[in-house]
Amino acid sequence: MGTETLDFVADETVQIFGGYGFSSDYEVERVYRDQRVNRIFEGTNEINRLLITDMLMKRSMKGELDLIPAAQRVLDEVLGPTTREETDPGRPLGEEMELLEGAKKVVLLVAGSAVRRYLQALAEEQEIVGALSNLVMEVYATESMLLRTQKSLGRRGPEAVGSECDAARIYLFAALDRMESDARRALARIAEGDELRTQLSLLRRFLRRTPRDVIGLRRRLASCALELNRYPFS
Ligand SMILES: Cc1cc2nc3c(=O)[nH]c(=O)nc-3n(C[C@H](O)[C@H](O)[C@H](O)COP(=O)(O)OP(=O)(O)OC[C@H]3O[C@@H](n4cnc5c(N)ncnc54)[C@H](O)[C@@H]3O)c2cc1C
Repeated sequence: MGTETLDFVADETVQIFGGYGFSSDYEVERVYRDQRVNRIFEGTNEINRLLITDMLMKRSMKGELDLIPAAQRVLDEVLGPTTREETDPGRPLGEEMELLEGAKKVVLLVAGSAVRRYLQALAEEQEIVGALSNLVMEVYATESMLLRTQKSLGRRGPEAVGSECDAARIYLFAALDRMESDARRALARIAEGDELRTQLSLLRRFLRRTPRDVIGLRRRLASCALELNRYPFS
């Protein structure tokens, strides 16, 4: 996730420089070239994606992680109403944390369905394994980001961390869109017919959200950076 974020940032930086970004007179051209190797060495990103899911599955089989019973509980939700954690309405970023809980259930839904369908042969379904790793990475990054933002809110108050909250919401909503797409693709491989329809309805339930005005949030964040004339979070 780190190397792909670096890739995105380097690419956007070249774009911001326009034609100058392509010229070796400007440092960003070198950044763009040099950063590319990070997705190759120390294990390519494709191979690392296979390892993330493999490691989680092995630890679950050994009983070191509670993933399998947790996945079963999520699959059981098809029989009843979705259990949503009771959240305190006054809790900072409470709605966003609730969406994160739904996103975690999506990981368990896809992992549980994949294990049930393929058992030990799951490792051969590399595209599903890759999609699962994407979901795990999204949840990890989103949770880290929301917890850090909550911590800042507690320490510095809502006035001081408005931009961080905007950035957190922008990221969260983009991550949920990506997760939905990965999960749909994986589920469509795992199941078919009525079973697929049931799983897709669970997916919709877990990711139910009212779209945020992400364009407005991005504009406000950009205005803040322009006003400060620097990266706004340091
Ligand atoms: C600058 C640099 C420094 C390096 N330093 C070191 C070092 O110090 N020590 C060391 O041991 N090695 C080093 N390496 C080697 C590096 O670790 C390998 O290049 C890397 O592991 C990828 O292996 P490969 O080049 O053989 O690519 P391959 O394994 O041939 O892979 C080619 C492509 O196919 C993809 N691919 C392969 N299998 C799958 C799959 N199942 N699903 C999807 N895609 C797949 C890969 O992700 C990759 O994109 C270095 C490489 C570079 C470029």
